[in-house]
Amino acid sequence: MYGFATRAIHQRPGKKDVHGSLRVPVYDNVAFEHDTAQSIQLAFEGKKPAHTYSRISNPTVEDFEQRIRELSGSLACLAVSSGMAAINATIMALAEAGSNIVTTKKIFGNTLSLFEKTFGPWGLETRCVSMTEPAEIEKAIDKQTRAIFLESITNPHLEVADFEAVGTLAKKYGIPLVLDNTVMTPYLFDSKKVGVNIEILSSTKSISGGATSVGGVILDHGNRSDVLRNTGSCLAPHNAYLQSLGLETLSLRLDKTCTNTQKIAEFLEAHSQVSSVHYPGLKSSPYYERAVKLFGNKCGGLLTFDLGSKQTCFALIDSLQLIRRATNINDNKTLIVHPASTIFAEYSEEEQAAMCLRPTMLRLSVGIENSEDLIQDLQKGLENR
Ligand SMILES: *Cc1c(COP(=O)(O)O)cnc(C)c1O
Repeated sequence: MYGFATRAIHQRPGKKDVHGSLRVPVYDNVAFEHDTAQSIQLAFEGKKPAHTYSRISNPTVEDFEQRIRELSGSLACLAVSSGMAAINATIMALAEAGSNIVTTKKIFGNTLSLFEKTFGPWGLETRCVSMTEPAEIEKAIDKQTRAIFLESITNPHLEVADFEAVGTLAKKYGIPLVLDNTVMTPYLFDSKKVGVNIEILSSTKSISGGATSVGGVILDHGNRSDVLRNTGSCLAPHNAYLQSLGLETLSLRLDKTCTNTQKIAEFLEAHSQVSSVHYPGLKSSPYYERAVKLFGNKCGGLLTFDLGSKQTCFALIDSLQLIRRATNINDNKTLIVHPASTIFAEYSEEEQAAMCLRPTMLRLSVGIENSEDLIQDLQKGLENR
């Protein structure tokens, strides 16, 4: 089989384009005409692989789905309008009122809010435990548990769950293991190997690459039943097109990002003004050995580091010339943000402390620039404060 980069570029679409276009064009239409009534019936019954209506399926979106399905080695792939739409559709398909899901407080803020604030009033219980403590997870599981939900490297705490133990538990109790693999992508972490059943990606991030468009993906690794397409949150054909373009260079960009992040993490760790650096690729990380085992020497593009105070964090952010002040992750550009005053602004100081969120912490999402330039920007910023 060809390597990841080759397959990402050369995968052939299911149908040849009538004009021989080398790239599946943007089919910016809603309805598809059939020659006979029988043909539409078969398409509606799912017995004929043909399009009828773009909320259900669309050739440009389908091409994007097939490419990701093939690259990730999953059984089925559904592309939707955002990462949040993917998480919403997955939980709505798996759980119901009176049931529960087991997860951790350390997941992406909007996801936790979706579980607790949106699904809570509909009768779904969210049980938060530590994903690095398998015994706690096992205690939280009961007959009403419909999913164990985790992330590959949590943001911004950069925790790596004990996947082997969680995978074993999920299997033992027959509960779907759902992973939001946005931070790593199937290129850096082949999650089905550790027993993940359903994988979710916010394709807004690494896959789109240059932060060109919002999108989400649900991958079914085939060891559980299918997720239904019942929420109408379809991906726009134009966004599918942009994300297919991004997919072609995913591995190149992630390789560069991982190399850059490792270098920056080592630079920051050696800097006298920096009190601590968190990156699973650093030997000082409590997750170093697990990360090396799961991800090899490529630990993604997110790192956090601490300075003396919130003021010094703000001063550094404001003095940077190259690194951008923005909250996205896995853009081509390197981005910096102060999580406590932005992403977690809705929580009080006490609540933040309970979440182990430090006001002295900065998050860097490393891009694909020349690492020397990024390091110089940080070096100057740290000197100028
Ligand atoms: C950004 C993000 C999401 C949400 O994705 P959107 O495409 O913005 O809806 C979910 N999970 C993680 C880990 C993310 O970083």
